[in-house]
Amino acid sequence: MLESCIKVDQLRVIYNQGKSNEVRSLDGVSVEIYSQEYVIIYGPSGCGKSTLLYGISGLQAPTYGDVFVNGKNLATMTKKEKVQFHQTGVGMVFQAFYLIDSLTVLDNVCLPKVFRGENLAERREAAMKLLQRFGISTQADRFPSQLSGGQKQRVSIARALVNNPQIILADEPVGNLDSESAQNVLDIFKEINEIDKKTVILVTHNPDHLVYADRIIHMKDGKKVREDINKDKRPPEVAKKASVVGDLVDAPEKISTELRLLMRTFKDLSLKQVGVLLVPFKAKQLMTHILSQLTEEQTSSAESLLKEFLFNNIDSEALRTKLDLDMEKGGAGWNKLRANSFTERAQEILTNAQNISQNTEEALISLTDYLIKICNLKLENDSVLRFRAFIKMRVENKIDRFSLQERLDSAKQLGGVGLYRGTAEKVVHEVEIIMLLSYSAEPY
Ligand code: ADP
Ligand code: MG
Repeated sequence: MLESCIKVDQLRVIYNQGKSNEVRSLDGVSVEIYSQEYVIIYGPSGCGKSTLLYGISGLQAPTYGDVFVNGKNLATMTKKEKVQFHQTGVGMVFQAFYLIDSLTVLDNVCLPKVFRGENLAERREAAMKLLQRFGISTQADRFPSQLSGGQKQRVSIARALVNNPQIILADEPVGNLDSESAQNVLDIFKEINEIDKKTVILVTHNPDHLVYADRIIHMKDGKKVREDINKDKRPPEVAKKASVVGDLVDAPEKISTELRLLMRTFKDLSLKQVGVLLVPFKAKQLMTHILSQLTEEQTSSAESLLKEFLFNNIDSEALRTKLDLDMEKGGAGWNKLRANSFTERAQEILTNAQNISQNTEEALISLTDYLIKICNLKLENDSVLRFRAFIKMRVENKIDRFSLQERLDSAKQLGGVGLYRGTAEKVVHEVEIIMLLSYSAEPY
């Protein structure tokens, strides 16, 4: 499963508290939502669905309880962080559209970008792409009053997406639409979830919509009364994907979640004990990270050797020799060249992991040097410092991997490092594997 991105903990929203007209809109709701999930909040009118959604978006402050997004408590965010969160963290879609009538369709979609200081041409290009994608580009210069309901909602979805937030919140988005337009809009949310991999949280009172969700949160009288997992959803696509690419491509996604899961499962064990339990998993991750195009036999015997290496039963010299050795003789049956480069890479990653678990400035410097080398980065001096600062934040777990990627990927003028997206991704994967291995990376 993927990472939890939203955690609602005992949320209460009470209006007119203590007065005769007191309303408990939310009465102690706890919900956890995972990255890339499609969750529907379902229940009769007045049960607190919208209040819950606005609680998650930070538009509605809790009377009691907490809401965490990507591990951050919304209540403790600074004003600036909150603005940033609303600009780029979440996109919202409402039943009533809330388009600005005096602006053209294109300018409505651009609006969230205006506040980000991006230049006009870039803004318009990004907005236009979304209008094209949703089949409304010919309406770009019209005004909202000239559009049908379905078109208006597609414009508002484009607006919600224009800053590329990871989370999309939609409050009864098809409540005002005829059935054909409703279908079209629901297909768009499905696509945003499945193709764009966004977390979608949609509020509805219509049972016909439930088939779209991975999970349904049933509400009544301000309380969560049930959660259902939609078991019929997804298997075909997931199975298809898995058979084509195998585990390899998925591997980096799993790292932190599996770690977290393990931590939860083994919470009574010491760090060291957890570290030992993690070794097979580390071996697998390191394996899939470094490898390509070997036979299954060659990889599985190499994986066992890697396990021995991580358990400190063999050193890197022995690893190198055994990888090269024939399978009949207990080796992995690789050739010398591959055995050498593999061992070198494993050793380098492990050394960095051991270093950063010491948490020193030197470790950080050698990690950044290593990343610059291995990912072939061409950075100017001031960018190196910035790069190192971001790596430090990630290693100290002050930001998550997505946030690291965004910082690496963003243009220099916007405070980022200005790497190409693919390069930023590569750096993030490298950092994540090192962080995984650093986890209790003392000699076992
Ligand atoms: P839903 O979206 O499920 O229809 P809401 O979250 O909008 O429900 O509302 C839940 C309850 O809170 C309702 O009884 C509603 O009347 C009440 N409520 C919502 N906003 C306010 C407010 N500003 N003042 C008083 N009561 C409110
Ligand atoms: Mg509502």
